[in-house]
Amino acid sequence: EPLATLTDAALDVPVLGGARVRHVNLDLAASAPALDAVARRVVDVLPWYSSVHRGSGYPSIVSTDLLESSRDVVGRHVGARSDDTVVITRNTTDSLNLLASAVPGDVVVLDIEHHANLLPWRSRRVVVGRSTINETLDALRAELASRPAALLAVTAASNVTGEVLPLERFAALAHEHGARIAVDGAQFVPHRRIDIAETGIDYLAVSGHKAYAPFGAGVLVGRRDWLDAAPAYLAGGGAVDTVTADAVSWKRSPERHEAGTPNVLGIVAFAAALVEFESLGEERRGAHERALRERLLTGIRSLDGVRVLGGFDDATDAVGIVTIELTSLSVGLVAAALAAEHGIAVRAGRFCAHPFFDRIATRRNGLRASIGLGTSSDDVDRFVDALTSIVTSGPRAEYARGADGWHP
Ligand code: PMP
Repeated sequence: EPLATLTDAALDVPVLGGARVRHVNLDLAASAPALDAVARRVVDVLPWYSSVHRGSGYPSIVSTDLLESSRDVVGRHVGARSDDTVVITRNTTDSLNLLASAVPGDVVVLDIEHHANLLPWRSRRVVVGRSTINETLDALRAELASRPAALLAVTAASNVTGEVLPLERFAALAHEHGARIAVDGAQFVPHRRIDIAETGIDYLAVSGHKAYAPFGAGVLVGRRDWLDAAPAYLAGGGAVDTVTADAVSWKRSPERHEAGTPNVLGIVAFAAALVEFESLGEERRGAHERALRERLLTGIRSLDGVRVLGGFDDATDAVGIVTIELTSLSVGLVAAALAAEHGIAVRAGRFCAHPFFDRIATRRNGLRASIGLGTSSDDVDRFVDALTSIVTSGPRAEYARGADGWHP
């Protein structure tokens, strides 16, 4: 059974031949549909949506309170320290670009990163990951020891392989070398709880839309000194104390970096999702997902021509992401056939992590199935059966010809 109901639970989609089947969404890692509980919360607060911080009417007061209390919920959920700042952004990419504008020095980063945690760093020193986490830590240690760096930037979980990194060890390593650590939590937070204070993380970037909260809000949480010293990331109303014709006095973080009308519904939705995670409980979330991931792996491992991608031989944990490559079929065609013939959504490509993908894969593209709170064992079985039939017999000829009334 799914652990929670998502807003797409009852979607029927057309498949080749004119029938409709229940949609199976195995692309949660890209963007997850809202949890029902999140959708209800958004509908409840929608009438109260109004200008924040500046309006004097009652709905403005309610909206401001919703914004600030949601900020607090998100900060608390991720273990923010009392003197940390929680900046509301659009998404993880935005959060990391904001942090990049405030880092006072070099950034050391692994090649396993999503482009969002690779490209924003202007003076980046990219370290190539090794076949084990232990050796990778040694390579990072050598780089950090070679010359000073301000920051080590690392993902909590790979968006290609799902592998989880031991963040305590990365944090300790950064701190031993006088650097801070920033963590890309985009793929981790939807699956597991993170506590930045306990783990020793200085900055965390997250997106709501991967955590079952639509409307596009994210956060950057962490130490305020760099962010208070940096120029405003966005210049405009709300970020300043006073402005004269020739002088500006900027606010401290978070307002300093949040000019413009904020995404109130986005952060309300994100907070509602995190509250729902807490009430589901870590154990149930973890157990549900691990069982389904194992079921999926068991179902596809023995298929001829299918290879499961992994980055580290010694990774001990992974979130609900599995990426495979196919030795003799185009993954683009297979992904399209999964949708067209079976109503199953997956992702094909290199997942915005080109350096990592190209290092661990032997083919140009991979096929990623990602699972989460809305996934059932039936969903996994439908994927396994569909993939088995496509890999064994090939996509149906009608689809290969692009015929039969199914339009993507
Ligand atoms: N980091 C990782 C690990 C991701 O998987 C993604 C999204 N694919 C991002 C960052 C970027 O997230 P967003 O598009 O929400 O900014």
